[in-house]
Amino acid sequence: MSRKSSGALVISLDTELVWGMYNTGPISPERYAGTRDVVHKLLDLFDKYQIPVTWALVTHLLSDCGSEPEDRSHLQYTKQDSRKMDLPCQQELSPDLWHEPEVLNWIKNTEVDHDIGSHTHTHLVFNEATREDARSDVERSVAVAERYGIDLKSFVFPRNRIDHRGVLKDAGFEVYRGVDSRWYEKYRLPAPIVKATRFADEATQWTPPTVVPRMESGLVEVPGSQVFRPVHGGWQYTPKGSQQSRAIAGLNRAARTGRIFHLWFHPFNFASNPEQLLTAFETVLAHAESLVQQGRLNVLTMRNVADLHKSGRWDGWETEV
Ligand SMILES: [Zn+2]
Ligand SMILES: [Zn+2]
Repeated sequence: MSRKSSGALVISLDTELVWGMYNTGPISPERYAGTRDVVHKLLDLFDKYQIPVTWALVTHLLSDCGSEPEDRSHLQYTKQDSRKMDLPCQQELSPDLWHEPEVLNWIKNTEVDHDIGSHTHTHLVFNEATREDARSDVERSVAVAERYGIDLKSFVFPRNRIDHRGVLKDAGFEVYRGVDSRWYEKYRLPAPIVKATRFADEATQWTPPTVVPRMESGLVEVPGSQVFRPVHGGWQYTPKGSQQSRAIAGLNRAARTGRIFHLWFHPFNFASNPEQLLTAFETVLAHAESLVQQGRLNVLTMRNVADLHKSGRWDGWETEV
């Protein structure tokens, strides 16, 4: 298969249980139980359609917080705006909400070879963190992964807030997900405007952008194309099926242009309505498989894109369509 005449699908998954949400409102434990089931079902789908993806883990999922003394270093971080509350591992919460070391075995015991990346150790929001805290968090993430024999290369910033890239490079990371390739994601606009514009995108079934990797601060940046949105929080009012039709349009655009369609989401979000979201998502994967079979699409992890780009073998077309 020639990569020259085909595009690529990249999927990255922000995998975190309560870590992404513990300080944003009430915690609903059943959603986190459902998240484990969603992860299993996603892994089954990825095997069925032979789709390797990047699992960006909050690596504290792998640590019980306390069995080794150095595990405690993350409790000393300077308080930041989104960190006014104690970390989940410091609160009186069931460990089921923040600890799941088995997730690694689930991901490893599959047919396809997934990329395991980091979504920080404690979901530290980098643009609110001091450099020292960012460094401490990332070094902990790398150390915990190493304990499990994993060499982290791919990184996803919590809330996509990009900062302290030098810290990542020093820690051996090679690639991160950039903000979605949309004008309104690149500028700091008031949140209601961004939300209204994202909503309009869904409502009008706008074809998502395709992207290409580029070097930024010594790392490969792969911007996002589309978030596979949950069906709550207002998104249920967008046309039924718009997510999968937009994703399919994005895949077709990637196949047509030789660029990357980068789809991402949090498995946690699927737990709100797993059947509908998994069915919609499977439609997208089945379409990707058909494009692969036609020789028009490759499926790559973020790590694969970094390897291709750094070795000069990335030959996606640069034309804007
Ligand atoms: Zn902890
Ligand atoms: Zn997150």
